[in-house]
Amino acid sequence: MEEQLSKPVCRVCRAQPANTAEHFIPQAVGNRGLVNLHVLQQDGTTAVKRCTNGYYEHVLCSKCNSDPCSVYAQAYARLCKAVSRAAGVSTLDNRVSVPLSGFHGQRFVKHLVSMFLCVSPWEPAEEWNDLQAYVMDRSAPLPPSSPRVFLYLNTGNVGRVVPFCCMVELSTSRHVCFVEVSWPPLGVVMAYDWHEKFARMFEVTAWGKLGYKDYVDETLLLPRLRIVSGFPLAYGTRREVEAEEAAKLPAYLFHVPPGSMGPTAVGALLEKRGLR
Ligand SMILES: [Zn+2]
Repeated sequence: MEEQLSKPVCRVCRAQPANTAEHFIPQAVGNRGLVNLHVLQQDGTTAVKRCTNGYYEHVLCSKCNSDPCSVYAQAYARLCKAVSRAAGVSTLDNRVSVPLSGFHGQRFVKHLVSMFLCVSPWEPAEEWNDLQAYVMDRSAPLPPSSPRVFLYLNTGNVGRVVPFCCMVELSTSRHVCFVEVSWPPLGVVMAYDWHEKFARMFEVTAWGKLGYKDYVDETLLLPRLRIVSGFPLAYGTRREVEAEEAAKLPAYLFHVPPGSMGPTAVGALLEKRGLR
């Protein structure tokens, strides 16, 4: 165990050392240059880490980083660019309409699942074996045990990274387990449980079951949600976020392994000037 903690292995293949600086939010979507990482600590305070070459972590081996993951990242970057182009025009119900054609939806979902594995604290977790196999094998369909995938337009100036977490609303006893990786303009939530917040988001789980070469021709309808804090699944102005917290009394349960091997020990905001 000590050996594993001191020498992290690749989150995808679990075989090779994690020896590459992986920008799982690709540099092509602006994750380069100075990025400030505001890491939420267990006591509720934040610590700021300045990343001068974008935000990256040593979470993949060089083999997985180049093949298959680089192809998946291209699909992610392409969708981000389509969302950026469409962001200025809203539908009547204040969503953004993003037309896609000839888009490799399955590769996009494989990138999201690789991000899921990259941001979560590393420890041997057999329940994620299916997700690792899904990323490694280009033709593998999304396994039934996977989280559902929801998208929204992140209108904030900051991104948010939430490693695998369970939110319990003490006022209602509801819970939802999920990962969130939302770099502007694309918000992504991968969830194992349903929550009313997902109702207006656009679900793309079905893309994960397509073939590697299959195309998606579809128009996404993304709600506009604003991120202002590091608190998971919290959207809107600070006042709105505080009012919701007071009403629902959410508690967040994180798995923090010994030595805090996670890229973000609890949760983080990513701040880059000039992003929208
Ligand atoms: Zn690997």
